[in-house]
Amino acid sequence: MEQKRYCLCCGKELHGRPDKKFCSEQCKDKWNNARKCERRQVRACVLRTLECNYSILRNLTESGGTVWDLGLLAALGFRPDYITRLVSNKKGYLICECFDIRYHVTKTKLALESRGSALD
Ligand SMILES: [Zn+2]
Repeated sequence: MEQKRYCLCCGKELHGRPDKKFCSEQCKDKWNNARKCERRQVRACVLRTLECNYSILRNLTESGGTVWDLGLLAALGFRPDYITRLVSNKKGYLICECFDIRYHVTKTKLALESRGSALD
């Protein structure tokens, strides 16, 4: 006995080809547009988080410090899991980059490595 299948978009029962996923072109377009919108929202959220991290690091570096407590950074909204690149330095440390700001992270601290021209 054939198992009943339903449109991914509206839930209407499907008939016809066994690989059919939608009841109509309208449902297919609506579904695909919704997926595109979700992907765009995810990208925008990641970019906002990176921009927030960058702003926090830029403000702190401009105030003259080089080492900060991760708890303080978290209170400011910094998210250490959002970086633009991860590289290893000559000493074997993993260096995080947030655009042109390079730093490394320990269990409790974030230490500035350098700022400016991250592309090398
Ligand atoms: Zn449908």
